[in-house]
Amino acid sequence: MQYIDKSSLIYSSRFNSISNRLLDTNTNSYKDVGDADRAAMKDVLRDEQNGFCAYCMQSLITGTNDHIIPRSVNVRRFPALIRQGNYRHDIVHTHSWSRAVHISANGQVKYYPHDIAYGNLVLTCEECNSRKDNKEIKPIFFNNPTEVSYNADGKMKMPANAFCEEIRAYLNETANCKWRCLWYKAQNAGVTDVQICNATDKIARTKLLRQIFGREDLTVDQFRLANDSNWNLLVSFRWFYHYFQLSAQNGLR
Ligand SMILES: [Zn+2]
Repeated sequence: MQYIDKSSLIYSSRFNSISNRLLDTNTNSYKDVGDADRAAMKDVLRDEQNGFCAYCMQSLITGTNDHIIPRSVNVRRFPALIRQGNYRHDIVHTHSWSRAVHISANGQVKYYPHDIAYGNLVLTCEECNSRKDNKEIKPIFFNNPTEVSYNADGKMKMPANAFCEEIRAYLNETANCKWRCLWYKAQNAGVTDVQICNATDKIARTKLLRQIFGREDLTVDQFRLANDSNWNLLVSFRWFYHYFQLSAQNGLR
């Protein structure tokens, strides 16, 4: 898990140069976010997160915007939520927060400040975004990375925190643990991430799998890992190779 510092001046200024243009000072509301602006905002978040989903650490090609404080939460509850310590104080778009109204003159709901506030957005994969949904949980990426760890079986360990439960359950589902465990085994067997990413055909992949599992006679399920869809998923969780490599170097396991 990587810590995401939502108070970064580098990324907030890049992001706000886009979102500031969307604030209509005449009507005190946000203009619609067009495709180009939305893509540019995602680019900033993707750079900030080194290209990984904020929750599952999967490599993102496009990614979806996840709102830390859900869009559905009424802004009147913000002060209470921030007081509870579950969210950063700078979530609200500081330049517009005091001015932007939330209902336009014709009664339509316009963009809330936290809809497009840098401090309230992270990029996630679609699966993590839909699992989180509009739950008011403390994002796990606010935890110090040393407080979050992964076992050899791929299980993820997090500090006891009631606000993480929904996401914790998803991140520890068997399917997610499987890919992490494979990277653990690869690292342990001396198979590198570069070798795995460069293995484009089944023959090369099967050879690596034999090395990873330490056996010539792979099971049917192990053979299936060489299929394009499985291999691409494994590659997308490449971050874990470096995680386990560093853990081994630091003697953390
Ligand atoms: Zn994800």
